[in-house]
Amino acid sequence: MVDVIWGDDQLQLARFQHAPRDSFEEYPSWQTDGALECARRGDARLVILADDPGLFDGQDPDLVAAYQKVALKHARPAADYAARNAMNWTVVAAPVPGWAVKVFPDLPPQAAEARLWDTIFEICRLKKADPISAWQEHVQQLSARCSYLNHKQYTALKLIGPGTDLSVGLPRGHIWEGIRATSQAGISFIGNLPTEEIFTLPHKDKTEGIVTASMPLSRGGTLLKNFSLSFAQGRVVNVSADKGESALRKLIETDEGASRLGEVALVPHSSPISQSGILFHNDLIDENAASHIALGAAYRFNLEGGTGMSDAEFAAAGGNDSLVHADFMIGSAQMDVDGLKKDGSAEPVMRAGEWAFEV
Ligand code: ZN
Ligand code: ZN
Repeated sequence: MVDVIWGDDQLQLARFQHAPRDSFEEYPSWQTDGALECARRGDARLVILADDPGLFDGQDPDLVAAYQKVALKHARPAADYAARNAMNWTVVAAPVPGWAVKVFPDLPPQAAEARLWDTIFEICRLKKADPISAWQEHVQQLSARCSYLNHKQYTALKLIGPGTDLSVGLPRGHIWEGIRATSQAGISFIGNLPTEEIFTLPHKDKTEGIVTASMPLSRGGTLLKNFSLSFAQGRVVNVSADKGESALRKLIETDEGASRLGEVALVPHSSPISQSGILFHNDLIDENAASHIALGAAYRFNLEGGTGMSDAEFAAAGGNDSLVHADFMIGSAQMDVDGLKKDGSAEPVMRAGEWAFEV
């Protein structure tokens, strides 16, 4: 049986326009209780994102932040199951007019929507003669890169690019993953479509230096532009942004873990999403446009034995925990990445935004 749970942008907006200002801490927990019940049973989950990224433009940012925080808090128990691959799940995006005109502002809504569908087909490799084998080959490539890096067990990655000089320490037993995974019931699945990344978890206390975003980040209806973060001992110690600085600060202040990293991901500049040159205003697609890091929670499956660890054990091993997980793009055709070995020597991982090793 398939159960459809429908979200509605306009109803959400109506709440911001008309609901009492002190009601935004309230949450209909039957929704997340239901999701948790499904997660416990290992039910498959398909999420179709069709959001207008500018929906909350002009709304009180404090209310937007409160609303998002309370929703995340309630979604957390079920999300924990997904983070342990308790079920097979996938996330895809479907165009809606409000989103399409944001991506293609020069087109009328209907044409923008058609163009966005076409672009999604392109970046999901659906226009290849044999899309399924194109996917299998692509996913195979990503797996081979993961195996190579897992075997290396670098102690840190050094990322150098315009406005970026960052060292990201990696914990012992870190695991590089592509998005292909196997659920606890043994079902193989791809959690995101499209996907271009391989990723692992940083050590939460071992990021040092400065990093500058290479693309704007659309976050809860606010566009963050030209922003930089400085890290010391894993923690954000300085923030600057041309646009959206207060939203960025709010994100970092969500909880202790929101000021530390939970993911580092590598994506070559030649990936179809990057080559499209389009800003999609959608995390699912934009995060696959470039190498990225995420503030907030790390995935348990990125650490050896991580899914069976208590919260304290995971933290002691270097895993970060937070209500948020916010990816932002830092890669470009100018980015070099080195892997540091235990003896301190460096090996090239990426040069000028492309893989620097053969698999
Ligand atoms: Zn990622
Ligand atoms: Zn992420």
